[in-house]
Amino acid sequence: MKREELRVNGARLRESLETMAKIGGTPAGGVQRLALTDLDKQGRDQLVQWFKEIELDVTIDAMGNIFGRRAGKNDALAPVMSGSHADSQPKGGRFDGILGILGMLEVLRTLHENNVETERPVVIVDWTNEEGSRFAPAMVASGVWAGALDLQWAYDRTDGAGKRQGDELARIGYKGSVPCKATPVHAYYEYHIEQGPLLERAGKRIGAPKGILCLHWYDIYLEGEANQVGPTPMAGRHDALCAAAEMILAVNDLPEKMGGNMVATVGEIQNEPNSRNIIPDKVHFTVDIRSWDDDLALRAWEDLQQSCQGIAEGRGCPMRIEETWRVNHSPFDERLVRGVLERAEALGYPALHTVSGAGHDASYMNQVCPTAMIFVPSKGGRSHVEVEETTWEDCEAGANVLLHCVLASADEVEA
Ligand SMILES: [Zn+2]
Repeated sequence: MKREELRVNGARLRESLETMAKIGGTPAGGVQRLALTDLDKQGRDQLVQWFKEIELDVTIDAMGNIFGRRAGKNDALAPVMSGSHADSQPKGGRFDGILGILGMLEVLRTLHENNVETERPVVIVDWTNEEGSRFAPAMVASGVWAGALDLQWAYDRTDGAGKRQGDELARIGYKGSVPCKATPVHAYYEYHIEQGPLLERAGKRIGAPKGILCLHWYDIYLEGEANQVGPTPMAGRHDALCAAAEMILAVNDLPEKMGGNMVATVGEIQNEPNSRNIIPDKVHFTVDIRSWDDDLALRAWEDLQQSCQGIAEGRGCPMRIEETWRVNHSPFDERLVRGVLERAEALGYPALHTVSGAGHDASYMNQVCPTAMIFVPSKGGRSHVEVEETTWEDCEAGANVLLHCVLASADEVEA
């Protein structure tokens, strides 16, 4: 069979996804497979078994990342790598992360059964704890691999019950002997559900994000004056929660006000003393601003600070601000992104040049090697929830795009 005629087996991909969805499957049709739990171990064992069935050389590194390597004709060349994560959110979906691993597994099965030889080796990877929901932060193991995070620090992260990430890795038998350290990679592809509504709205099947949005995190702390609610007149109150309420709406209005491509969210709030008959005197909330334009995000933050300052003064509630975390927007490799778009069109799938609002292991990989992602539509744009859904046809289409991207990169002999 000619290379360009190769296609993945959509039915087999569906079967693998359904088998995996049973491990940690929830009654409402989702998946709960938190990092380094017994269920995560079961999922990993299943992956390793599948990797070995097609004669991949399986290694596990010190962060529990699982690699399956298929030799190339010129085995000394840097490999083409692709994969994602097998852990999920609590009450998460059946596609987030695992589609990228099983899509790549389907690519490798297709190469295997057709005896396709590539110039370069090809590697599949399962990154440990991408979600960061049991052990924060997210994307920790690809971060260590890329040299952005420290291994010992990662081991010392604890879950809500005080268990160390390093101990839990050892407990489930996935603290491997290979160093968790980047080696040269010719190209990294990550196949993932979109987790947003843009593809569906545009009627497109494949998304090729040009990169990942910037991410700016802030924490705002407000002081009010606590008092019994009954005897205290409305005039002259210093209600920290009312100040927060106005500020939260200012955050929500920010993207439209700035007139740019941006999202801004308050997702977390603490209110003290949180009693129905005491005026709140201590409120903390978070602000998350994301945009492709780092400067616009900064200008938005300056504007928001001014609005908040005015609100705080108006209500007599002193405010303290922490600038918690800033990551600049991260553009993927232009040549690889163009390749994703071209191969999607060549396969007859309408494609969209887009951006990724969410972080992925691809963010850290992008720091060490040429990287691109392949998106398929999320029904209703929903993810991190049990109703997360992508059609089997779209799953198959994305895997076909991945197949031809991997083939193209794996046959490039020049660095
Ligand atoms: Zn994911």
